[in-house]
Amino acid sequence: MDILNYRSTELTTLMAERYGKGQWHGEGLFSHLYKEGSLKGLERHETFLANADLAGRIQDDWAFELPQLVREQKEGDTIKALLNYPSGGSSESVFIPMHGHNTLCLSSQVGCARGCTFCRTAKMGLVRNLKAGEIVAQVMHHRFREGREIRNIVFMGMGEPFDNLDEVIRAVDILSHPHGLALLKRHISLSTCGQGEGLEQFGKLIRERPEEAYQTLRIAVSLNAADNEKRSKMMPVNRLWPLEQLKLCLQKLPQSKRKDGLYFEYVLIKGVNDSREDADNFLRFMDGLVCKVNLIPLHGGENTPARDDMDRFHRWIREGGRECRTRKSKGKDILAACGQLAVET
Ligand code: SF4
Repeated sequence: MDILNYRSTELTTLMAERYGKGQWHGEGLFSHLYKEGSLKGLERHETFLANADLAGRIQDDWAFELPQLVREQKEGDTIKALLNYPSGGSSESVFIPMHGHNTLCLSSQVGCARGCTFCRTAKMGLVRNLKAGEIVAQVMHHRFREGREIRNIVFMGMGEPFDNLDEVIRAVDILSHPHGLALLKRHISLSTCGQGEGLEQFGKLIRERPEEAYQTLRIAVSLNAADNEKRSKMMPVNRLWPLEQLKLCLQKLPQSKRKDGLYFEYVLIKGVNDSREDADNFLRFMDGLVCKVNLIPLHGGENTPARDDMDRFHRWIREGGRECRTRKSKGKDILAACGQLAVET
C-alpha cells in the first residue's frame, strides 16, 4: 500500500477499517508522516505514545519507499533530480531557490501526449500518468531526503497536469493539508498547454467543493502565440481547443477574475512569435481577463532571442497595459527550464 496516495480523511477511514481506530489516530499518522517524512519514530508521536504496538503494526503494514534518485544535475543553485519510481518509469523535478523562498517544479506524468514542438518531454510521448503518491514523493525527496525548504510548487515539469487532473488534485489536497506539509494553495500553480476539457472539469470541481478553495490555486497557461494558425503549428492542442474556446474556458474560472490567479507563459522565439503583430494579438486575447504575463526566452538554437528582442516585446506588452515579467532562464543549462524536461538515458 502506498501511504502517500491517501488524504488525511482517507487515512482515518483506513485506520478504522484495519485497526478499529478513528480520526485521532488517522490525523496523528498523517501529521507524523508529513512532519517527519517517514513512519520512523511513530511510537513517539503523542497519538501513539500509549500504543507502541499499534505504531509497530502500522510501520510493518504501510512501509513505503521513496523513489530512487538516479542523478542530480546542478546549475548554480538550481537542482534537477531524476527519480525512478518503484512501480516503473522516471520523471524529473527541479528545485529552484529564489529570493526569500524556494520553488519546486513537479512532474505530473512520465512523458506527455500533447506534442508541443518546442518541448523536449513531447519527444517521449506519454508513457504513463503519475499517481498522486508519486507526485507527493517528489516533494518528500527534496524536503526530507535533501532537507530543502519549499514554499512554492509549480506543475511545470514533465506532463500536462490537466490530463491527469484527479491525481494532481489529490496530490494538492495532501500537500496543502494543514496537519501535513501545509503548503498554501495560493503558492501552488497548475500549468497547462490549454487543455480545455480539463479546465472545464477543474471549474466544476471549484463549484462542487467550495470548502477546498481550489479557486486560490494559480493557473499558468503556456500560450506562446495568440494566432490560431501559428499556435496550432507549435502546440497541436490548439487544434482541439482553439484560442476562442480556450478563452471561454478561462473566463469561466474564478482565477481569471482576481489578481494573481491567472498567468500566461510566453516563450519568445525569434522570428516566430516576436513581432509587433504577435504582441497585438496577444494583448487582444487578454482583453477581459485579469492576468499577468511571464516572458521566457527560448533556450538554445538559432531562434534564441537576443536581450533587445526580449526587451522590445516586454515593452509592447507593458504599453498594452499588462503586467509582464521577463523570467530569468534559471536552469537552462541543465534543460530544467519550462517545457525542457525529458528523461535522457
Ligand atoms: S510543453 Fe507541457 S504540454 Fe506541451 S508537450 Fe511539453 S510537457 Fe506536454
